[in-house]
Amino acid sequence: MKKSTPTIAAERQYVIEKEKFVPVSHYFGEDTFSHKVMKEKLPKDTFKKLMEAINEDKTLDEETANIVAHAIKEWAIEKGATHFAHWFQPMTGITAEKHDAFADPCGPGSVIERFSGKQLVQGEPDASSFPSGGIRATFEARGYTAWDMSSPAFIKRNGISTTLCIPTAFISYTGQVLDKKTPLLRSIRALNKSAVNMLKLLGAKNVKKVYSNLGPEQEYFLIDMDYFYKRPDLVLGGRTVVGAPPAKGQELEDQYFGSIKERISSYMHDVEEELFKLGIPAKTRHNEVAPSQYEIAPVYEEANIAADHNQLVMDTLKYVARKHRLAALLHEKPFAKINGSGKHVNWSLSDDNGNNLLNPGKTPQDSIQFLVFLIATVRAVYKHADILRAAVASYGNDHRLGANEAPPAIISVFLGEQLTQILDNIQKGTVTRATNAEIIDLGISSLSQVSKDNTDRNRTSPFAFTGNKFEFRAVGSSQNIASPALVINTIVAESIDELAEKIKSQAGKNINQAVFDVLKSEIKYIKPILFNGDNYTREWEAEAQKRGLPNEKTTPAALKALITDKALRLFDKYEVLSNAELKSRYLIHVERYIKDLEIEVKALNNICLSQVIPAGVDYQKKLAAAIAGAQDVLGSQAVFSSQKELLKKILDMINSIYLTNKEIQAKVEAAAAIHDEPKKAEMLGSKVKPLMDELREYVDALENLVDNETWPLPKFWEMLFIC
Ligand code: ADP
Ligand code: MG
Repeated sequence: MKKSTPTIAAERQYVIEKEKFVPVSHYFGEDTFSHKVMKEKLPKDTFKKLMEAINEDKTLDEETANIVAHAIKEWAIEKGATHFAHWFQPMTGITAEKHDAFADPCGPGSVIERFSGKQLVQGEPDASSFPSGGIRATFEARGYTAWDMSSPAFIKRNGISTTLCIPTAFISYTGQVLDKKTPLLRSIRALNKSAVNMLKLLGAKNVKKVYSNLGPEQEYFLIDMDYFYKRPDLVLGGRTVVGAPPAKGQELEDQYFGSIKERISSYMHDVEEELFKLGIPAKTRHNEVAPSQYEIAPVYEEANIAADHNQLVMDTLKYVARKHRLAALLHEKPFAKINGSGKHVNWSLSDDNGNNLLNPGKTPQDSIQFLVFLIATVRAVYKHADILRAAVASYGNDHRLGANEAPPAIISVFLGEQLTQILDNIQKGTVTRATNAEIIDLGISSLSQVSKDNTDRNRTSPFAFTGNKFEFRAVGSSQNIASPALVINTIVAESIDELAEKIKSQAGKNINQAVFDVLKSEIKYIKPILFNGDNYTREWEAEAQKRGLPNEKTTPAALKALITDKALRLFDKYEVLSNAELKSRYLIHVERYIKDLEIEVKALNNICLSQVIPAGVDYQKKLAAAIAGAQDVLGSQAVFSSQKELLKKILDMINSIYLTNKEIQAKVEAAAAIHDEPKKAEMLGSKVKPLMDELREYVDALENLVDNETWPLPKFWEMLFIC
């Protein structure tokens, strides 16, 4: 590679001075306006009113809001904050914030720090430049942000600037949602209602609320910043569009869980320190499968907070990387032919007494409850596998799902052998009367061991039951987990309600008997979605087709599941997304796919014409001159066949690169005339994408032919192994 030799990165000193050690428990959450801080800073009755508002989903009266705002402001200023910002999650997939100074002029030449209840509760960012999918024309770009009291305000430090961030929902003035948080909050509400009703039906007492919990395992790559800035494709699109695979990849399996390099360890330490200050319980860190790939997993939290926290984790990974002269890559597939990054989202339900409803439990009653929620979830996944697939569809994630990489685009559920056996027993109906003794006879007593039976964990399944939670593994590493979470919550809410209806209609039976009779037929119904085998095989693909399971490999095809009558009815019924909102989201995702692809096409064009071809021509010139020069000296009897062959290959590659690139540009230009966005996305995906892959093959072949000194881009082996 030109100029920057690999040793630059390797030799640089990265001694990060460690400040005096402070135990995490001393500063955990110090930058959040947590319940603990609220209790400390707010008058008793204000705190009580605020808690009621949070727990019962009520709005705050103006007077209370003013008192809370004053307390938050004082606290934030103490922390060094000069500004406040409503922090929200528009459809861009990342977070947005507009800062306003606390300082407000008061009389000539002086200011006073001010922050009112109104400013806390509602903001009015200019919404015109956020994706709305046609919901709101630009000329009436009025949107507002509303404080989400269920997620704590926090301090964001960036260089020497400090800002108070208030988590908010982002809504248009006509009341339509423009963000990812609002529908998640609505889905949490819907699931709570359905689950509490079900628990009551099953005879549970003292349960007022059911929470959905999320534990996202975030994968990412780290490379030296010098390399990053020399790759326009990485800088602009997050993924290398060209680059030959290194001689060594992950085949030695020496990266996974390997000892962490010093530079990376220091980085992780810094990341965690930032997260701990924000009250994010970062728990697990390790090397992942691919070279330079890592994972961070916090302890699971309530869905809304976990989703906010995952956004902050992604931000922090990137922000701290810069301080360490590293670049954190969150793209689903930064390096072709090297494992991509996903985000396993662990999901469970728990009640307000702290019981995990997906925990098999010890008593027969616990077991029945467990089976109901387990089967309700599996049933939901079966009924709406297409929507779940759509929820993780993106241009980047197409490199994982549907390509030959984990997990496949076919959504199926893994339950493990033991649980499958128990369900089989129930379905075979050896039980005639659901007395406690008979329930135990069924082998259900062994359910309590299911949670411990984690040994045969199937890593290939997109939706796996892992003892006391489900793990949704198809989520992309860069995605906002609110989207898949709101889908899971909504489909499970519906499924619980449908089961409840069926149970209630079993007239004249005791509740256990009614439940068992319903479960019996439901277990039969869900059979096609259950699969314990290897999800990567061709055989499974064929089998899944026989079972009628959807298998959409591309985003334009998968997204259509969002606008079927089934989906529109579902999200409308549960008041998560109206038809107009869902349709707009569909369009936003389609448009995003087009934009992501077009950015890569432009980057590819630029790299080919201004870097790759010139490098090829340079080397071609050198070779041609060498052959001619040698011929002058040695005469024509000398052997030149190998150099001539090499020269010919280089000419061929340059030719193929030039022509394929030209063809891509022509196709993209033709696509510009298609005004139907879904059609355009499909055309680009089916006609342009394969050509981009073909072009890459030529470029990568050329990379392996030309002089290393001449090649203008950092190579895979450098980026992945030198750090
Ligand atoms: P693995 O990589 O073996 O799947 P990790 O320890 O990396 O497991 O991550 C597991 C994730 O699942 C963590 O975020 C953890 O907090 C989360 N988790 C554990 N129990 C639950 C639960 N009941 N509900 C949701 N998430 C959970
Ligand atoms: Mg893990």
